[in-house]
Amino acid sequence: MTGLLPRRTLPVLMYHRLGRCPGGDPQLWVTEQTFARHLQWIRQRGLRTLSLDEAYECFSSNSPAKDAVLITFDDAFAETLERAAPLLQELEMRSTVFVPAGLLGKRATLASQGGSYEIATEGPIVDEEGLRRWIDAGQEVGSHSLTHSDLTTVSPETASAEAARSKRRLEEVLDHPVLDFCYPFAHHDAEARRAVSEAGYRAAYAGEPPTEDLFALPRMMVFPDDTEQRYARKLSGFYYWISAWHVRLTRASRRR
Ligand SMILES: [Zn+2]
Repeated sequence: MTGLLPRRTLPVLMYHRLGRCPGGDPQLWVTEQTFARHLQWIRQRGLRTLSLDEAYECFSSNSPAKDAVLITFDDAFAETLERAAPLLQELEMRSTVFVPAGLLGKRATLASQGGSYEIATEGPIVDEEGLRRWIDAGQEVGSHSLTHSDLTTVSPETASAEAARSKRRLEEVLDHPVLDFCYPFAHHDAEARRAVSEAGYRAAYAGEPPTEDLFALPRMMVFPDDTEQRYARKLSGFYYWISAWHVRLTRASRRR
């Protein structure tokens, strides 16, 4: 329930792919030009782009930094990391990619289950070498499960294996602890959250609505047609609060 007082949440942006959409769901793609423009909007507002450690600190202490944003990418498609890294590096900005660890270097088709389209998104996932280049460019990595399975539809044993084995695999490749998880399709339930927590992660990212659960951290999807005004609302930290009020007001005006 939305309170009357404005409530800030650390803004976490969710991107999927950079470039021109060749097919599949166009909402998952923003062009490099659009992404570069988004980074300028972030810079113009004087916002810092956080590391996963800094974002965790904000969420775990319940104190969203006023001047910060966490940029995330889901799925680790090779072309997207190649295109994003130089744009981020040029502005000394940071971001995180959530990687389906069992698909490194493979061609993947990630289809939404029960969705209205057959193929949501497909292409080659970054390989080990590409992932190390991403780290060398000052960017970060979290787990997006092993095979991009919806953890709410698999057995508890499979959910545990997806969480634990992807962590081990990425830590082997990067020689660095991987402490943050992101649910495929942003789907989670109590069983999925338990599997991720027991696998040794400190936090897990999801989608909307916002919660205070460290294993269901909120993120906002960025769309290719986001105007500067809408993007600014996302960066403000009040996006969820404003959206909830918008829904309330729309309902109230319909009742009149
Ligand atoms: Zn995904």
